[in-house]
Amino acid sequence: MASAVHHNCHRLHALLLRPLHAPSRHPRLSFLPCSARLAAPGCRLGTHAAVALAEPDLEEEEEGDDDDAQFVVVTFYKFVPFEDPHAEVASHLRFLQGRDIHGRIYLNEQGINAQYSGPRKDAVAYADWVKMDHRFCDMLVQTSPALTGHAFPRLKLRYKPALVQLEGGSLHLPLLDSSMRAKPLTPSKWKERLEARACLDLSSSETSVRKLLLLDVRNDYEWDVGHFEGAQRPNVDCFRSTSFGLSEDASDPLNGIDKEKTDILMYCTGGIRCDVYSTILRKKGFRNLYTLEGGVSNYLRVEGPAGWVGNLFVFDGRLSLPPATFRRSWPSGEEAAVEKERWVGCCYACRSKVVELRHRNCANIDCNRLFLCCRWCAKELAGCCCSDCKAAPRLRPLLPGHQRYLKWHVYRDGLSTPVATDSKDNPDCCC
Ligand SMILES: [Zn+2]
Ligand SMILES: [Zn+2]
Repeated sequence: MASAVHHNCHRLHALLLRPLHAPSRHPRLSFLPCSARLAAPGCRLGTHAAVALAEPDLEEEEEGDDDDAQFVVVTFYKFVPFEDPHAEVASHLRFLQGRDIHGRIYLNEQGINAQYSGPRKDAVAYADWVKMDHRFCDMLVQTSPALTGHAFPRLKLRYKPALVQLEGGSLHLPLLDSSMRAKPLTPSKWKERLEARACLDLSSSETSVRKLLLLDVRNDYEWDVGHFEGAQRPNVDCFRSTSFGLSEDASDPLNGIDKEKTDILMYCTGGIRCDVYSTILRKKGFRNLYTLEGGVSNYLRVEGPAGWVGNLFVFDGRLSLPPATFRRSWPSGEEAAVEKERWVGCCYACRSKVVELRHRNCANIDCNRLFLCCRWCAKELAGCCCSDCKAAPRLRPLLPGHQRYLKWHVYRDGLSTPVATDSKDNPDCCC
């Protein structure tokens, strides 16, 4: 009986929202897979619909077709139990039919993780549709400009056993239990904590203030283009093999800390890696785990670059974005200049300063490391990250500027050919 009520409630919900948000060319109602989206106890139709009625999205109505056509990148994730994730995948694919969406959208028994690009009209329509399921209505959806068309080559929407790449997978982790995850701090609370910490550093005799450890749980190459001041550089080149708090290694910042008394503030790009990793730390006995709500991208949008140096690495074709990309309002020329001055980055090979915070992949196909490189080293090492890689057997040619490599099989036939010939022939090798 309860399910029948909720079944109707989804439909009612759609009817209420439609005149406000959905033009008739988006017949959302027909796409609502009600049976697959039955509400759990505590359906929030009442409050959600009331909010929609009270706050029609005027901005959306005022925006013209030009804005609808502009490409944006959208990211969201949420841990929610899906009884039948394969059916959910099918219904998402149905909704996206005829819509111009590229990206990586993964679902499994524990929820959804989506990063995609498309014209604003389609990109927003999809996020809105997902949020029509009441379990997602409070989900944080982050949007940023795509710069030049799609930021992903194609759409991959499928079931995936791990919503983020992690050694050993993540299905066994208690991701659905929010008490096992790190406690989210709003961007302003986060900023407060960091500022208090900076004051503490200045007057180091203070012992009554709680100890705080700022943990960057991203990959080292992400740290290289930008990070919070005072955060430790991750000791792995890949989040997948992160082992903070799990090793006896002296380089592990969590090694030997007081698990009861130290506040661990962890951050990543959008929040999902912290949510996943914090459940592992929680199981290891770390009590005071906090995470930045919505990750760095949300922080830069709400608080600007306070406490942040450099750019933000993103996992799409844009790779590296200055903080201003995420701001609600574009910064003044002066602010932008300040941000630019604070950019950091050094060449992976020679450690000299790099102004262009954009990675390249090592030309050695068996290395493929993402790294920052100065123009001189890019040329000298023929696009490789080190001299060992330069001497490796399977090399790709050095690409001009910051072009990305195509799929590896494109280079398969030429891989036995020494790459130096190619790169020397290329007059515009690294700028
Ligand atoms: Zn260099
Ligand atoms: Zn390499």
